[in-house]
Amino acid sequence: MSHDIHLSAALGAVRDACRVARAIQQDLAQVREITKDDRSPVTVADFAVQAIVAMAIHSIDQEMRIVGEEHAGELRRDEHAAVLDAVVAAVHTYRPDVSADEVLDAIDTGNHDPDGSGDAYWALDPIDGTKGFLRGQQYAIALARIENGRVVLGVMGCPNLPADSSQPLDKPDAHGTIYSAVHQGGAWELPADDPSAQPNPIAAATEPIGEGLRICESVEKAHSKRSDAARIAETFGGPARPVRLDSQCKYAVVARGQADAYLRMPTSKTYVEKIWDHAAGSIIATEAGAVVTDINGAALDFTHGRQLETNRGVVCAVPHVHGRIIEAIERLGIGATV
Ligand code: AMP
Ligand code: MG
Repeated sequence: MSHDIHLSAALGAVRDACRVARAIQQDLAQVREITKDDRSPVTVADFAVQAIVAMAIHSIDQEMRIVGEEHAGELRRDEHAAVLDAVVAAVHTYRPDVSADEVLDAIDTGNHDPDGSGDAYWALDPIDGTKGFLRGQQYAIALARIENGRVVLGVMGCPNLPADSSQPLDKPDAHGTIYSAVHQGGAWELPADDPSAQPNPIAAATEPIGEGLRICESVEKAHSKRSDAARIAETFGGPARPVRLDSQCKYAVVARGQADAYLRMPTSKTYVEKIWDHAAGSIIATEAGAVVTDINGAALDFTHGRQLETNRGVVCAVPHVHGRIIEAIERLGIGATV
């Protein structure tokens, strides 16, 4: 099947999901959530979006395999009946005729466990940056297709990200943006709420953006070590000017020329990055002209199942600074001890 069909299905699915997620976020006081085993939150929006995207992909790809962040196990428990009701109500704004069982089954199609490099599947983070979503800030709906261990297509909905880069990033935008990329086809931006809009090409910066290194990093301190990012930025001189935002929107901020680098510096020896946190964002940044590797300069390796088993952290940067960042990490011995 051609990537045109995959791309238009992915764009449609992500656009619909953006609309549903935005409606849920606008009524945050009513948002129901569950705390997962790893203590992280999962909300009505995470489940509803995973169901919506799975149903949309299924309509073009009956054999589809999805590696999704969520599963319906908790939702099937009686104690979470109210959460399930809210999920089904949200999905009904997209497809009014589906039953609760169909919603649960759609969520559970995301349980594919890729076993090697010969697999073709979709990777989905229904709400990347759930903590940003719950703060009323940035989050992303990230969908990518992986074939033979390579990301070949990525679509990322950023419902709160203003297309106008002069607007503040910590306040929700009224329209939001969607980014897309197909291998060797460039990277594109379009408004999240206008299906008739033509996509515009985006490009990473080709020269320094002002003085020093303009980096973006996580809002959550536990997800990226700020002191390491600051030490790297110092080696470039000038003031460190970190832009902090949740989710894979950080890849888009580099891809559209607004930052020199997205640094994800490990905070622990044991955490392994998940494929759904990087598949869509990394192809969008790469197709816009940025370079994406881990903190040791190794390419992100999507051939090890649900996790980036052989990688540590992420450095996504414009070409003229990427090599210097990797050198600085090595010289400063960053990452060796955590
Ligand atoms: P961010 O929006 O940059 O804060 O990243 C959100 C993602 O961080 C979530 O989707 C989690 O999968 C991931 N995450 C959870 N714990 C860690 C950790 N210790 N280090 C790095 N990423 C993490
Ligand atoms: Mg995520």
